[in-house]
Amino acid sequence: MEWDTRLIHDGQEPDPLTGAVNVPVYLSTTFRQSSPGVGTGFVYSRTGNPTRAALERILARIEGGAGALAFGSGLAAISALIMSYPKGSRIVAGDDLYHGATRLLEHARTHGVRVDFVDTTELANVRRAFASGPRVDLLYLESPTNPLLKVTDLRAAAAVARKEGATVAVDNTFASPVLQRPIELGADIVVHSMTKYIGGHSDVLGGALVVRSKSLLERLSWFQNSAGGVPSPFDCYLLIRGVRTLGVRVRQHGANAQRVAEFLSAHPRVARTFYPGLPGHPGHDVARRQMDGFGGMVSAEVVGGQPSAIRVARRLKLFTLAESLGGVESLVNHPALMTHRAMPKAEQKAKGISGGLLRLSVGIEDGDDLIDDLRQALE
Ligand SMILES: *Cc1c(COP(=O)(O)O)cnc(C)c1O
Repeated sequence: MEWDTRLIHDGQEPDPLTGAVNVPVYLSTTFRQSSPGVGTGFVYSRTGNPTRAALERILARIEGGAGALAFGSGLAAISALIMSYPKGSRIVAGDDLYHGATRLLEHARTHGVRVDFVDTTELANVRRAFASGPRVDLLYLESPTNPLLKVTDLRAAAAVARKEGATVAVDNTFASPVLQRPIELGADIVVHSMTKYIGGHSDVLGGALVVRSKSLLERLSWFQNSAGGVPSPFDCYLLIRGVRTLGVRVRQHGANAQRVAEFLSAHPRVARTFYPGLPGHPGHDVARRQMDGFGGMVSAEVVGGQPSAIRVARRLKLFTLAESLGGVESLVNHPALMTHRAMPKAEQKAKGISGGLLRLSVGIEDGDDLIDDLRQALE
């Protein structure tokens, strides 16, 4: 089956009991047993719920995993993953991750987990981290990253880790499974904030871990159940609905983002544009190899620094000034003052997050309208 067909049919057969075309929302928190310890397989909704099970089955199929676990948010998924590494473990992680993931990894150090952050866009750094110090248990990657859209060669990095017996996790939120499938590239665990492209309408939080093997599924489902950060059945229903339109949405996001990036890179009031779909982007060739498109996120540094960036952000009409991303509506974010505000100034500077930087989540509106809006705001 081709992609667009799989997103609508894979794991989504009509309900065998009633013929309902959509997966029903099972609000029941508990399930009858016919004899003590004997039942349908569902016992209590934290442990398992039919609507969540449907979402998890769909996620596993579209990412090509042996199974999936859904969580109440992306960070609930990431914290379950990190929590599964006991004292004495070693994690090598990208140095440009979603800030919430970095914070949790730093916290893991206080529990006796060794965490080394490296710039994974250079494979030599990954090799060096594995060659020095104790055995690595987990390589944690993100590509493309937020907000500068840095690209890591996932196949090459995963190969280094697998040779050393380490597990590989990839945060695939920015790409979505439509554009990038890390398990096919050698990863063991795919992380999602489903709040973004999978949900797609800025109206539901969700997270997921999709895993390559049944043994990983077993190990991580213990943490899903024991820590209990699960999504509600209604949220699962909304997320399934998001999957069904993911293909058309992501293609339109990408087509608009390419136009926006090309427009911005040619604009005299824009100093730099960050988009993996631009041939000048340092990750362009790797992105072309490992992705089926470049996604809907574009960042740009405007001429005139922070005052100019604030002015542009406030003048935009179709791009709403708000955090988050991946919804059908276009958003603009000023990372230094909004999403990355908690990051110390020196670190912001080292990472290239300047006061002039704006991050755009390019929506699925008409591309001409989006360009017109940017043009008037930059005047
Ligand atoms: C938003 C995001 C997260 C965190 O997800 P929440 O659903 O907000 O908890 C993790 N990784 C990336 C790349 C994100 O964009």
